Amino acid sequence: MNPADLMRLRTVERTCELERMWQLLDPFRADLTQEQYDGLQRQYSRYHDRLVRREQDGTAAGVDAFERDLVSLVVGRLLEAESGRRGATPAARRLLTQLAGRAGPVAVPLTGLEFEPRCETWSPLTSLVRLRVSGSGFWELPVLAHEFAHCLITDAPAVDRAGAGGLREVRDEIARDLRSDGDLWWSDGAETDERRGRRAEELVADVFATYVLGFAYPACCMALRIASDGLDTRHEIHPSWRHRVWAMLQTMGQVSAQERTECTRWNDFPAEAEKQARELWRTLSGDDGHTMSQSERARLGLWTHRVTEVLNGFGTLRYAGSRRVAVLAGELETGRTRTAPPGRDTVADALNAAWQWRLSRHRTPDEVRDAVTYCLSRC
Ligand SMILES: [Zn+2]
Repeated sequence: MNPADLMRLRTVERTCELERMWQLLDPFRADLTQEQYDGLQRQYSRYHDRLVRREQDGTAAGVDAFERDLVSLVVGRLLEAESGRRGATPAARRLLTQLAGRAGPVAVPLTGLEFEPRCETWSPLTSLVRLRVSGSGFWELPVLAHEFAHCLITDAPAVDRAGAGGLREVRDEIARDLRSDGDLWWSDGAETDERRGRRAEELVADVFATYVLGFAYPACCMALRIASDGLDTRHEIHPSWRHRVWAMLQTMGQVSAQERTECTRWNDFPAEAEKQARELWRTLSGDDGHTMSQSERARLGLWTHRVTEVLNGFGTLRYAGSRRVAVLAGELETGRTRTAPPGRDTVADALNAAWQWRLSRHRTPDEVRDAVTYCLSRC
């Protein structure tokens, strides 16, 4: 065997694995739309052809991004089938379908499970939103709304009619503002235009997730994701949590103000939810954002406002809660869980009710498990 043969061996290994994964996806074709399946098949053929060429050339091929996406997709479907659809994956798919429905003529992203990432990610290659295999599943579903925003912003051709162009523009405006600000309050000092764009996009995605899900998104971030000693840590592509949460609270304030002025019937849900979120922030941080300077607050307020203005243009994206949230939260509290007919509630309603219920006092593992089972049966 010569060195080229050894490299060929590795390429053949990848080819066999790719083919095996593709076959494993076959029983789940019905879960995908024709468009999604065709898109995957095009990618599959492209990667398969590349492997064949590499085998002929005698060069090695490593695991590529498409194979990783395919494995995530297959793992997600297999686990879901094995667990009798008890996990949160079907609810994740319903949430993304419902958000896409509210956003207009938008392609619904695929979902898959992943062992590696410490948080949910979105793959632009196949429009795959990855959820974590481990983790509490249901309670972290709100993060999918944030990933969906990345999807909307980046997956341009499919979504232009839905106003995603406006979201991209506002992201770029924020990135330009950051540059003229000298980035001092926002970054770790080593900014590039690419990193400014990505940080700005994170902020847009946070505002989006809060706008479309309400309380459930900031509640999930504050309760499960944010370490109280890491509020001001500036990550490579994420703004600090202090800035992110401030933008979420501003968004909630703007939604409740809009409800007050635009709705003929008084709906106090958004205002109540904002109050709860602010209390949670005080519990976590010990302040109400007052450690930020006036100009930081002004900047973030302005950016949030620009993003929500674009989102207003979508028409049906704003989430203002509903009576169902209070009903569902009441059912969780009283344990009268068998009487309500399933299937009436949106995933957004169930998440808001569940987070309200969970944050109102300490809940034991048994209570939490029962609540998840009930909520999954309702949405
Ligand atoms: Zn993100």
